[in-house]
Amino acid sequence: MSAPVVIAQTDRLTRLRTRLRAAGLDGVVLTKPQNVAYLTGFTGSAGVAVVTEADAHLVLDFRYLEQAANQAPGCRRVKANGPLLDAAAALLRDLGVQRIGVEADTMPVGPFRRMQDALQPAEIVPLDGLDHLRWQKDADEIRTIRRAADVADAAFLAVLPQIRPGAVEREIAAALEHELRRRGSDRMPFDLIVASGPRSALPHGVASDRAIGPGEFVVIDFGAVVAGYHSDCTRTVVTAPVTEQHRHIYDVVLRAQLGALAALRAGMTGREADALGRRPIVEAGLGDAFGHSLGHGVGLAIHEGPTLSPREEATLTPGAVVTVEPGVYLPGWGGVRIEDLVVITEDGCDILTHLPKDLHEATA
Ligand code: ZN
Ligand code: ZN
Repeated sequence: MSAPVVIAQTDRLTRLRTRLRAAGLDGVVLTKPQNVAYLTGFTGSAGVAVVTEADAHLVLDFRYLEQAANQAPGCRRVKANGPLLDAAAALLRDLGVQRIGVEADTMPVGPFRRMQDALQPAEIVPLDGLDHLRWQKDADEIRTIRRAADVADAAFLAVLPQIRPGAVEREIAAALEHELRRRGSDRMPFDLIVASGPRSALPHGVASDRAIGPGEFVVIDFGAVVAGYHSDCTRTVVTAPVTEQHRHIYDVVLRAQLGALAALRAGMTGREADALGRRPIVEAGLGDAFGHSLGHGVGLAIHEGPTLSPREEATLTPGAVVTVEPGVYLPGWGGVRIEDLVVITEDGCDILTHLPKDLHEATA
């Protein structure tokens, strides 16, 4: 069972080393847990990877030595007796490296300075963009994300009958969390969003003590985590009585989402993809009410690249897993978001979340 994992890790390390050589580096210190997991296989909560041309090392404290031996048999294990990054600096000094990369967005300043002092006159170079290595998922990763999406779909359908006037947001979130866990989610991917009435106009309204009223939208944003991989999905339901404005706003968002799903494909930039979902909302006169990006990458992190945003110039490649989640938020009244998770393919995309999208009307 472990052979395919080792092959995947070898290929990933090869791609990392190509990047390092292009940047003129002898090695790199990985501090972002998702990158450590992706490149070594080790998923413990504390571990630093040091990758050079010749070797991959995991710097660990005693709690994780055995887990690392099982998960990352291809790595040399280095036991730290103090802070992991100080032990990594000592290792790099022993290895005699002269130019070493660190992850700019997760390397803490204190250990960075101590590493600079310890490794004088070696140069330490903050690196951006190592996350790009994770953007294109392989078949095993896609299978795992598909499982997470299936768990989340089933959990939502189990809880849907409870989403009705009188129900309290927090109770719905608790029921959803329970269903997600018992169906296979290792943990929650984020604080689940259950936002009703005027709160549905908050793009990130985590569940509160509010009871759902009549004639209100309820935005539910949720997902599962399976073997470290996330899924992400949003549905919006409405409680009776349903007005024309409810139907109109929901229809604008749904048409934007369906249009984007139909046109999304490899070869377009994140900016072009964003425009697919944004244009219909702007044309409906609601552009100002759609204040976030159309989507984001999902994998070992719930939010990663590539993004589908007006600022993303990167090109989508087959195997990228992204959300498509247009929304319209009218402050004081309510909002709608519809989110699916997809895999980009040569000529389109495969949708991984399968919940219905017709406007669900809940009665008391
Ligand atoms: Zn979401
Ligand atoms: Zn999302």
